[in-house]
Amino acid sequence: MGKSPSSPLVGIVGGGVAGMSCALWLTQLGHQAVIIERGGQLGGQLLGINRANRWVLGLPDLTSAAMAKRYAGHIAKTSASVCLNSQLLAIEALPDGYQIQFASDSEAKSLTVQALVIATGVRALGAEMFCGLPGFAPAYQSGLMSFFPLDHLDKLTALNDRQVAVIGGGDNAYFTAKDTAMAGAHVHLIMRSPATAQPAVRAEVSALISQGRITEYGGTEAAGFRLREQGIDVALKKNNHADQWISVDRLFGRIGFAPNSEFLDGFAAFSKLHKHGGYISTSSDKRTNLPWLYAIGDVANARHQAVVVAIADGAVAAQDFNIRKTG
Ligand SMILES: Cc1cc2nc3c(=O)[nH]c(=O)nc-3n(C[C@H](O)[C@H](O)[C@H](O)COP(=O)(O)OP(=O)(O)OC[C@H]3O[C@@H](n4cnc5c(N)ncnc54)[C@H](O)[C@@H]3O)c2cc1C
Repeated sequence: MGKSPSSPLVGIVGGGVAGMSCALWLTQLGHQAVIIERGGQLGGQLLGINRANRWVLGLPDLTSAAMAKRYAGHIAKTSASVCLNSQLLAIEALPDGYQIQFASDSEAKSLTVQALVIATGVRALGAEMFCGLPGFAPAYQSGLMSFFPLDHLDKLTALNDRQVAVIGGGDNAYFTAKDTAMAGAHVHLIMRSPATAQPAVRAEVSALISQGRITEYGGTEAAGFRLREQGIDVALKKNNHADQWISVDRLFGRIGFAPNSEFLDGFAAFSKLHKHGGYISTSSDKRTNLPWLYAIGDVANARHQAVVVAIADGAVAAQDFNIRKTG
């Protein structure tokens, strides 16, 4: 794989921006890199964000989805190998690296890599948090309930004069409540714990509450669902007591993110990997506590989840690997 068969090969699990950045830097530094991506294309979370990304220096007008395509195009110009639709099957720790087996597009592959980089990102929490509640399955299957933070944006015009429930108390819940209320919906903002959204958007939502366009339900959680012909009834429970039902046309869950790191638990080679809240612990060089195992991007960073941080992480891991191999 790659340009020079004799140079060290690094396996990168996850083809989001962190994994792509690491592959770029490794190949620039003269190493071989193979990206092992579960999905059908490179880009990770960025692929689902059709909004101008204002936080990447020098690219003020690009959407995140356009950035993902640009980054994937850059990787195509390098010597990095890309294996899409991949699933890791076995990993064995070697004295100086790892032996990995995976299926890519249903084809079995086996590689010896001198290092492994975990770059598997995070996912929006959703169905798994509510699936135990009565009535969840039909309500979810109706398509009137969704969980990806920006999935309300392409529905705003249809929400005028509608009843909308937003569940969550963080930035994404508050932005969703604000956007949908501004689009003419009446919004029921339901949160179990005290709000953690940033002060600016909380102030905007407070103004909409005082105008009667948003109703806030503090200390309250969804306890069940009932699918109607064209909407969903949501049972609310306050202070552990069933409280009331509300009827809405659409429900947006904004209940946070979880790191994609559980799959590592299935491999004995990683049984002693240090994690905190599921996020992989690393040194400033992005090394984990296990030999020749790095972790980069959102999966290793609970607090600073951003494109530029993921890009920097990829570069740091590649540079560290290079220094260790070449002295
Ligand atoms: C709604 C939203 C808006 C955002 N807005 C901004 C913004 O405006 N500016 C900004 O800087 N950041 C923003 N972010 C954050 C930014 O998108 C992330 O920090 C960044 O994309 C993280 O990249 P990553 O490569 O670490 O992870 P990801 O993009 O999550 O990529 C991980 C990749 O790993 C793959 N994968 C997962 N598990 C496996 C497995 N077992 N095997 C193989 N592959 C696997 C996934 O399919 C995915 O392709 C936003 C995030 C969200 C959700």
